[in-house]
Amino acid sequence: MPTTSIDLNFDRHHLWHPYTSVTNPLPVYPVVRAYDVFLELEDGRRLIDGMSSWWAAIHGYNHPVLNAAVISQLQQMSHVMFGGLTHKPAITLAQQLVALTPEPLQKVFFSDSGSVAVEVAIKMAIQYWAALGKSSKNRMLTVCSGYHGDTFAAMSVCDPVTGMHSLFKGTIQEQFFAEAPVCRFHEPCMEEDMADLHLKLERHHTDIAAVIIEPVVQGAGGMRFYSQHYLRRLRELCNNYDVLLIFDEIATGFGRTGKMFALEHADVIPDIMCVGKALTGGYMTLAATLTTDRVATSICSGNPALFMHGPTFMANPLACAVASASIRLLESYDWQSSVLRLEAGLRQGLEPCRAFSHVADVRVLGAIGVVELQNPVVMAIIQKQFVDKGVWVRPFGRLVYLMPPFIMTDNELHILTAAVCDVVQSIP
Ligand SMILES: *Cc1c(COP(=O)(O)O)cnc(C)c1O
Repeated sequence: MPTTSIDLNFDRHHLWHPYTSVTNPLPVYPVVRAYDVFLELEDGRRLIDGMSSWWAAIHGYNHPVLNAAVISQLQQMSHVMFGGLTHKPAITLAQQLVALTPEPLQKVFFSDSGSVAVEVAIKMAIQYWAALGKSSKNRMLTVCSGYHGDTFAAMSVCDPVTGMHSLFKGTIQEQFFAEAPVCRFHEPCMEEDMADLHLKLERHHTDIAAVIIEPVVQGAGGMRFYSQHYLRRLRELCNNYDVLLIFDEIATGFGRTGKMFALEHADVIPDIMCVGKALTGGYMTLAATLTTDRVATSICSGNPALFMHGPTFMANPLACAVASASIRLLESYDWQSSVLRLEAGLRQGLEPCRAFSHVADVRVLGAIGVVELQNPVVMAIIQKQFVDKGVWVRPFGRLVYLMPPFIMTDNELHILTAAVCDVVQSIP
């Protein structure tokens, strides 16, 4: 236990939390320790974590293998600039990423966060076409209900309504939006499901650099799952209209959907791919953008013959070392069985919610469970109810959702899903 208590009053008056008001803040819960699947609060209460700290902590917290990787790297060097220097943690991690992702993705650009990885992907697409003398192809096409991050270019391809594009009108690039995919996971995808996207490509392809999309699972934009066949047709359309394809696997990467990457459900290869979140097992902030030799060499044949990006903390050795260890840890056990086990537990555990009249849908894919309500939750009330039940669940809007660490036991998952059912049932 810390010697001095956490100064919640200071927090309340000086700290901004994600998407919050500083004049009318909601309560925040002081955490002193995290280990295994537990978050320990200052008052000694122990919560079962249903969020993996926003998709990231796939191995749980305070993992001895990951701790050892950070400590060992710390004793070598915590950071050096990546301009003109290189190091083993970056090379090892890039080797792992190149080996894990589809064969054509050969070039790796490291950055500090998911949003920046998306910025980098968008820049790559624009520089690619500029280098080929087609600088009019500098806009993005995406689908509604997406989420790609909070920086300006990333925000420009988020859902226009939930992304509050009206607020930032004139300051963010206007992109092209097609209807969100409606064909469900595993179900076939018809020509009419592609019609709007097809139309937008047909009309605007001379202005479009790339299509950007989250494969199979749309995360923070609505927690929607859609057919892998959509991605196959999307790939064909991108080829036909000479548009690059960017997959944002920042939420889905590293096993969450039951495959190492969600693109494996569809067997589709993008031109550019972003990873982040679970990349370091939730230890540090790190992301990567991968691309093909074709895109990379074209960019570097343009003017300037360079890719125009370079963050200060690019390829941070501590983050790269722990990411390498996290990937090795994942590969060291049968993680697919763990995800399948969690999938079955989520299905069974959340199923009772379907009976409640204020529940619109219950859906599960891999280690992701979603209870969609008819109306938005009242955060101040529901957050406390979950904490009082000993679980950490952080809903948004009409969505109560779970993405537990892969190491969660059946019993812990049962407590978690039972708490969700109880709390959802009690909503007036
Ligand atoms: C979280 C997320 C991002 C943004 O990542 P940050 O690390 O929060 O900047 C981008 N795309 C998707 C799909 C995400 O889930």
